[in-house]
Amino acid sequence: MSNPIVHWVDGAEFTGTADNWADVTNPATGVVSGRVALANEADAQAVIDAAVRAAAGWAGTSLARRTQVIFAFRELLNARKDELAQLITAEHGKVHSDALGEIARGLEVVEFATGIAHLLKGGQSPNVSTGHDVHSRREPLGVVGIISPFNFPAMVPMWFFPIALAAGNAVVLKPSEKDPSAALWLARLWQDAGLPDGVFNVLQGDKTAVDALLTSPDIKAISFVGSTPIARYVYENAARNGKRVQALGGAKNHMVVLPDADLDLAADAAVNAGFGSAGERCMAVSVLVAVDPIGDELIAKIAERTNRVVVGDGTKGYAEKEADMGPLVTRAHRDKVASFIESGEKAGAKVVVDGREVRARGGADGFWLGPTLFDNVTPDMDIYTEEIFGPVLSVVRVGTYDEAVALINANKYGNGTAIFTNDGGAARRFEQDIQVGMIGINVPIPVPVGYYSFGGWKASLFGDSHAYGPEGVHFYTRAKVVTTRWIDPSNRPEGGLNLGFPRN
Ligand code: NAD
Repeated sequence: MSNPIVHWVDGAEFTGTADNWADVTNPATGVVSGRVALANEADAQAVIDAAVRAAAGWAGTSLARRTQVIFAFRELLNARKDELAQLITAEHGKVHSDALGEIARGLEVVEFATGIAHLLKGGQSPNVSTGHDVHSRREPLGVVGIISPFNFPAMVPMWFFPIALAAGNAVVLKPSEKDPSAALWLARLWQDAGLPDGVFNVLQGDKTAVDALLTSPDIKAISFVGSTPIARYVYENAARNGKRVQALGGAKNHMVVLPDADLDLAADAAVNAGFGSAGERCMAVSVLVAVDPIGDELIAKIAERTNRVVVGDGTKGYAEKEADMGPLVTRAHRDKVASFIESGEKAGAKVVVDGREVRARGGADGFWLGPTLFDNVTPDMDIYTEEIFGPVLSVVRVGTYDEAVALINANKYGNGTAIFTNDGGAARRFEQDIQVGMIGINVPIPVPVGYYSFGGWKASLFGDSHAYGPEGVHFYTRAKVVTTRWIDPSNRPEGGLNLGFPRN
């Protein structure tokens, strides 16, 4: 079989025993580039067992050594990021510069994790009661599972594993079966960085692999990112099996433009955030809320820019410039997004720019769809209610700021949002009024930096811990509080019987 993409266990490739494989395709050509192993239960158990064997040794490794390994990984990844970006483009389709961007955002979390010694420091209170001292410590959980989506095959796993590993856990990563090679590449890099074998493992597969992680008593926590129905399923089942769980789901991110905004900058932002990565980002802007009276002028500016977006094969260098936007991830997903465009048109929205007419610079059988701009979208249309996850930007026109806020707060998702305005008072009010986890003020994709935490509200996140940053450290560790009394012979306590509840 050409290019089998298998599991990674105990520092080596592992083919597994399942005779179940899925095609991996280059979306820019439509050509199958590899076949990924889909684990059965026995394969999943073999991967989990390896992680269990390695976990205690790694948890007992000094903070100094663990930190050195994270630093080494950071250096290697930075030096070799171009290789990883090429792998991402070949299986996901996003253009090379965009793939480098996702690695850069993952590197931020690696850099945050190099400070783990500081982040794990506990508290200490001497003499809380006569002769009694208290200190706290945070310890790793054991083996943790990470289940990631197709759209960020490197960054999303890196939201989690640098902190999980730095904190002393062993990891089983279950990547998306659509673009599984990045995970294997990262596993090899951990080995090169000096991580002991078995501490970082990759389990390839689909629902069977996910269910094995959700039900295994050896997996102590689950970090999931993907669509809302699966996030809910993972949250409920992981919790039912007694695990700590954070499950990040889908999104419908609104960008509000107030009449006083700089419309040229707002139009640039809408196009970049709407169509970057072909709209396959959980923080993509998919709804633009134009507050009267700027709708016509703003839409004209967005349409002009949308028509200039170059769609093409991100694996190729073009003489003039790289393509701005690549293909969609699979043919099925491309067709689903195209069917949303048909449905929006039928429902009465105005197609201002039609991505179905795209002329892409790429293979004839690539999964192409150009950027599409809809005007006059209303909240009852399915192009508004559903997460399309493609290059489709819907403009909803409203009369006032209050209508814009009410629209966003009524939406079932609450991942990201942005407001474009030069009115500081309005921006400040927005930040208080809006029921969304991540807010941009004149910033269209407000993904928090690595030392804050990432997470949405409502159907965009199940569980209470956000990803990475301080909440990531908290999620991958558990607390102990130790109360100590050492007997000083020169000042020996009286002792004696006293069955009352101890008071300080
Ligand atoms: P998905 O839900 O189809 O798949 C995510 C993971 O779940 C994959 O590893 C997949 O193998 C597994 N999976 C799929 N079906 C399953 C099932 N029935 N049972 C158990 N496991 C299953 O998501 P996707 O299409 O890979 O990714 C796109 C989605 O991810 C979008 O909805 C996007 O908004 C969301 N996303 C959210 C964030 C965030 O931070 N909130 C970030 C990135 C992507």
